Amino acid sequence: MAQVQLYDTVLRDGAQREGISFSVTDKLDIVQKLDQLGIHFIEGGWPGSNPKDVEFFNRARQLTLHNAILVAFGSTRRSKAKAEKDANLQALAEAGVKAVTIVGKSSALQVSQVLETTLEENLSMIADSIRYLKTKGLTVFFDAEHFFDGFKNNPDYALRCLTVAAEAGGDCLVLCDTNGGTVPAEVIAAIAVVKGVTSVPLGIHAHNDAELAVANTLAAVNAGVTQVQGTINGYGERCGNANLCSVIPALKLKMGIDCVTDEQLARLTEVAHYVSEVANLIPDAFLPYVGLSAFSHKGGLHVAGLTRWESSYQHVDPALVGNRPKVLVSELSGKGNIIYKARELGISLPREGKEAKNLLERIKWLESHGFQYENAEASFELLLRKAQADYQPPFELVDFMVVVETRRRKPTRRSLEETLSEAMIKVRVGTEVMHTAAEGNGPVNALDQALRKALLPFYPSLAQLKLVDYKVRILEESIGTGSQVRVLIESSDGVSEWRTVGSSTNIIEASWMALADSVEYWLLKQKTPRDA
Ligand SMILES: [Zn+2]
Repeated sequence: MAQVQLYDTVLRDGAQREGISFSVTDKLDIVQKLDQLGIHFIEGGWPGSNPKDVEFFNRARQLTLHNAILVAFGSTRRSKAKAEKDANLQALAEAGVKAVTIVGKSSALQVSQVLETTLEENLSMIADSIRYLKTKGLTVFFDAEHFFDGFKNNPDYALRCLTVAAEAGGDCLVLCDTNGGTVPAEVIAAIAVVKGVTSVPLGIHAHNDAELAVANTLAAVNAGVTQVQGTINGYGERCGNANLCSVIPALKLKMGIDCVTDEQLARLTEVAHYVSEVANLIPDAFLPYVGLSAFSHKGGLHVAGLTRWESSYQHVDPALVGNRPKVLVSELSGKGNIIYKARELGISLPREGKEAKNLLERIKWLESHGFQYENAEASFELLLRKAQADYQPPFELVDFMVVVETRRRKPTRRSLEETLSEAMIKVRVGTEVMHTAAEGNGPVNALDQALRKALLPFYPSLAQLKLVDYKVRILEESIGTGSQVRVLIESSDGVSEWRTVGSSTNIIEASWMALADSVEYWLLKQKTPRDA
């Protein structure tokens, strides 16, 4: 099968997604990640449209890229103007890149309705612009905007735009499904006709408005297209662009097209998460291949299958794309989920025998009392570890007391009353019992402070641990007690994050459980030797 060139436009088309705004530094960082992933062309931006992109291309000159060629984007010259006088084309020529992409209209309706010029003038705009950029020694890709819609409406004109671009020296003709409404059969049929009129290499640029961007892209490759445009995570205007995180593994693992190396493919998940991090968007857990839940298994039957044969419920080996399977533990679980998780954590738990069965019963009991381990993997791990006969807890609670007091005071802008929270706590570490008290801005904070005060003399590194999120949910539906609450705490040590859970009819007790789990889990992970 012919080689396929990967073309990413997350820095230009991707940045059109609502809520994304990349700084110049963000863009430079992403370019390097995409280069490591093995992307062949990285579209950096539109230097003719904004000063930020001009600065980006200036600074990008310092980058050393190993795989990728940086591409600047722009449009054909303005109507009735000269190409060599066009500021946008000049900005492209001066961007310091080897390749440029220019977008031009290929739909007769768009030319008359939006561009408000003649069909002939649009053809000259395409030809002049490409010829001008070719005289500058550049590789020129022509983005045929609205190609598939134009082809449906006026096929002769749409094809004429392509042949004009080809005659002017265009190096690749990129067929765009700009509005994202084309279906794969139409893509295939149109490409067959295009191949009859030009032998210049073709590309595909598909938008996802009908959720067909990836399907259309793969269909286009089957039909003979060699350049594939898309974005990491499918970011893009409206519903996004073809998601390269799905296109790349499909090409390589399912269609046998070696567009990246095995090592590069194994970075896919990392790059996907990196780009969402920089874009300041929460990674979509349910994205195929790269989502955290793309290979998660919850049903007991599935997990039982998985422990016997890894591929029983997975379409590809997650490791190939740098992801991993995740087994969820819940009341839907079977013994297999527990055994699988234990194995993952390096805890030996025989398949036969009552240990696993007892644990499963205990989990089901806990879940019926408001605990939920799906999103609290640290509490789950502790549950498994605590079930081991030789388990040594880093500390044990003897008792605690929390006092919340409201005092009248002189009115301020914020409130008329002042609430004080104080916690007293007694914990045992080894043979010593520590008794401490601390104040906090709320009862849970006071407990947290008192616990730290008690443990810091033994575990000074505990100072790194921070609670980053605290969620309370009232569980009316499942228990019937009405007042059962579940507390989920997310903690971080600056390097990793973990989640713990507590549940009780008393919110302070539920909070304590989650808090104590968080500290205990972290201390176990550190294997911190006690100083005293
Ligand atoms: Zn686009």
